[in-house]
Amino acid sequence: MGCTIDHLESDQRVRVLASFQDLSGHEVQAGDTGVIRRLDADFIREQISIEWERKGRPERLTFALRSRTGPGNGRMRQYFEDLGPEPLPGPPKGDAPAVTPKAVPPSPRTSPSPPPPTSGKSLGERTVACACDPAFFRPVMSESVGVNACMHCGTVTATQAVGDDGRHTGDAWTAYLPLEIPRDHHSWLARWPRIRVIRRHDILWPMAAELVREEVIYLPAKQRFRTVEDLTRFEADREADAARTPRGRRLRDAGTPSAAPPKDLATLFGEFRILWESLQLQASQPLPELMRYAQRRSPGRFVASELILERRDRLPIVLDALRSPDPEWQSAGHVLALALQPTPPEVISTALELLEGIPMAPSVDVPGRIAAFGRFESLVLLLAELRARDPEVIAVLQRLLRKIVRHDTHLVDPLRTTLRVLRGEAAPPMSFLP
Ligand SMILES: [Zn+2]
Repeated sequence: MGCTIDHLESDQRVRVLASFQDLSGHEVQAGDTGVIRRLDADFIREQISIEWERKGRPERLTFALRSRTGPGNGRMRQYFEDLGPEPLPGPPKGDAPAVTPKAVPPSPRTSPSPPPPTSGKSLGERTVACACDPAFFRPVMSESVGVNACMHCGTVTATQAVGDDGRHTGDAWTAYLPLEIPRDHHSWLARWPRIRVIRRHDILWPMAAELVREEVIYLPAKQRFRTVEDLTRFEADREADAARTPRGRRLRDAGTPSAAPPKDLATLFGEFRILWESLQLQASQPLPELMRYAQRRSPGRFVASELILERRDRLPIVLDALRSPDPEWQSAGHVLALALQPTPPEVISTALELLEGIPMAPSVDVPGRIAAFGRFESLVLLLAELRARDPEVIAVLQRLLRKIVRHDTHLVDPLRTTLRVLRGEAAPPMSFLP
């Protein structure tokens, strides 16, 4: 999954500020420049990978996520200076269909390394290599990976999106290039359910990607629809079911591959692999293993959190996770707090206590921000998501608002928005499970 890590994103030119060596032994010197084409973070294996072009050649760097001696999560500013955006060169020429300007999502998938795109076979704006109405096209499992299926004929295509969002050129375009992947990889990917995202809550305020939640419905891989109307009707039924049934159960009901992922499956498809591993977890497994898959960034968080909540000691587990100094456990604590319904009062009082205890020490890396801004923001969001409308909650948040304004003005908007939500003056965020 392409993502952002600290201030780094895809299609960005960077200069190296301090020399380092990555996990595979690549040596990079201070002063080197390059263009980042793709970033990935595997929060299960705790590795970050950066695909970049250095001296005109593609290169892949890997780092330990929690490194304390080189580039790592929260440490990228010490190693890379942002030199601005570096979009890919113009639309593919040759036999590519004409590409009309269109708004494209940020961070297009632009991996320079395998799997390679099939040369000169752009699908234009279509994401599936069939001739059906694109209204039948749905992503397979994830909107961000680039595997799409046709719900009419069943064709599944993995693509790489190329394009420019027009932010800097004024000329927005996107096109999809089919990827060459081994047949057994393709058939394993094709066995996953198709999805439709029905709601997102990132409109509350501009927030870190990992805090954004979305509600999806699952469509079985084998299901076919004669007309777009049939498909729409089926999805409306699934949507009604989504409000009643936990997401993990809905996913299992839709059908997932029983076979393990191919060993050499490209990292591009890492979300599928992690989700498959989550589906193999058992409630009796050691808690730290389950917690790792339950954190917010894990594609299997809802599967893992449903297992943890089957345990009898679930409430102490949730409270311990929220209070934990370990960011991974904190993150899983938020997922669990959302999934534990109805919300026990202890969850709300713990979140308030933690918020009030956050030190106002300034960040070393980011001017004008407190060091714990991420923790503060996610706890505030949790209260909004839990719709904690108690007058005590509102009183504490008002007190925090007066305090935070002196230390981190970026956190004022999330706090004000949450207060509006809790007072019933703004639409609440989604109420469904994580
Ligand atoms: Zn089709």
